[in-house]
Amino acid sequence: MNDNEKSTEKGNSKSPNKISRRQALKYIGYGTGGILVAGTAGFYGYRKSFQISSAEAAQVRKAKIVVAGGSIGGLTVAARILRAVPGADITIIEPKTVHHYQPGYTLVAAGVYEPEDVQFDQASLFLPGMKWVKDYVEAFEPNHNRVVTRSGDHISYDYLVVGLGVETNLDSVENLREALDTNHAANVYNLESGIKYKKLANEFQGGNAVFTFPPGYVKCGGAPQKITWLSEDLWRMQGKRDAINVSFYSNQSTLFPVVPVIDDIIKPMIEDRGIKNFYNQTLKAIDVSGRVAIFEERMPDGSTREIRQQYDLLHPMPTFRTPKPLRDGPLTREGIGGQLSVDRHTLQHTAYANIFGVGDNSATGAPKTAATIRKQAPVVAGNIIDSILGFEPSNKYDGTSGCPLLTRYGRCMMFEFDFDGNLVNEWIYQSTKETRLWWNFKVHGLKRLYRHAMMNGYV
Ligand SMILES: Cc1cc2nc3c(=O)[nH]c(=O)nc-3n(C[C@H](O)[C@H](O)[C@H](O)COP(=O)(O)OP(=O)(O)OC[C@H]3O[C@@H](n4cnc5c(N)ncnc54)[C@H](O)[C@@H]3O)c2cc1C
Repeated sequence: MNDNEKSTEKGNSKSPNKISRRQALKYIGYGTGGILVAGTAGFYGYRKSFQISSAEAAQVRKAKIVVAGGSIGGLTVAARILRAVPGADITIIEPKTVHHYQPGYTLVAAGVYEPEDVQFDQASLFLPGMKWVKDYVEAFEPNHNRVVTRSGDHISYDYLVVGLGVETNLDSVENLREALDTNHAANVYNLESGIKYKKLANEFQGGNAVFTFPPGYVKCGGAPQKITWLSEDLWRMQGKRDAINVSFYSNQSTLFPVVPVIDDIIKPMIEDRGIKNFYNQTLKAIDVSGRVAIFEERMPDGSTREIRQQYDLLHPMPTFRTPKPLRDGPLTREGIGGQLSVDRHTLQHTAYANIFGVGDNSATGAPKTAATIRKQAPVVAGNIIDSILGFEPSNKYDGTSGCPLLTRYGRCMMFEFDFDGNLVNEWIYQSTKETRLWWNFKVHGLKRLYRHAMMNGYV
């Protein structure tokens, strides 16, 4: 635990000799997480491509590997390669100097983390040997094996990893920008807005609280639900619940479609708490002065109708898109919403064999989460090593992802699932139960897994 976290985590025991119940649970959380991480790293058998001879390592060192995007996806792949082949030639193109731990945004908005808990100096994330180009990728030129940066440099590569993530498209809902400027709307998808949300939720005295879920691919599809459920719990604890109507308007046809077993359990649980769920609803526009969210509802016969919902507090969700050089460039194709066109198992580009994708920007159909990246990064690293050595990519991403579903303060359901939405390793997670253990692991363990284990190339 670093000093920063010590000062901001709530409820630390002051006694140096006593261990509180809360701390004990926390340590159990670390232990369970450690066993889990070690266990699942073993299960997936990614080591194959990393067991190479010194002559092969020398061959890998000759290849110039460029990584576009220096976040959890790009950096975990780079770290994996460097662990396997110290001295590998890796350049990371990343414009930002402060890295954000985005999975912590929901906890900032919920008042569990402080804003500084989710920020890291970008320079501190690079392993020795990684070269940093502090610039934006402006264009991909795959036929010339190079990228062009915003400042006009041409950076050539033998192998390219694309990890640019996805961004919210604030123009996808009419008047969304204006609504987010008022004291009645905020969302957890950027840090500033998450900080604002915490204040608005805490000061909210009563009326209609309206949460939405957008169409298309969504970064961490659980986050809009999590903030809804935590807010409801907050207002209950503050004694204001009776004065607040909580509604969740989703574009999807059920609450958590990605994992049907969890959906079946969670729906009645949430409805019992008096949260009203409305499905097949797309947020189209906001009447800012009248404080009305305007939805288009898909009817069973295929027609649509307009639904207008007055709000006093709105958590609006726009759609997502990939960054411009990807969505407007040669690495995507028709029908995948501007995402990187990859084979969903090898994560190799469908047209350019020396390009691989990791994380949110790739069209794999897997959830866009850091948990997905934990399973994808070793595949990409291994397949790049395979390719450099002249082999076909031998590592396959099996579609596994995970989700810590924060159902209320102090409670979390944790589960892993595959491409088809079936639970994986359920015996470890006890996935269908809300537990304090997994809450502690989410709050105290997962950030360390992300920052120290993944970014250092260990899991
Ligand atoms: C509110 C919220 C809650 C979440 N909760 C969870 C959770 O509980 N569990 C979980 O596993 N995941 C969660 N996630 C998702 C997780 O944060 C993302 O899946 C993860 O950050 C994706 O990593 P990435 O490397 O693919 O992309 P990103 O982390 O988005 O990084 C993309 C990088 O590319 C850089 N970049 C962008 N454009 C360019 C360019 N033109 N040139 C060069 N660089 C560029 C950016 O600066 C950035 O550093 C959550 C996300 C949010 C927002």
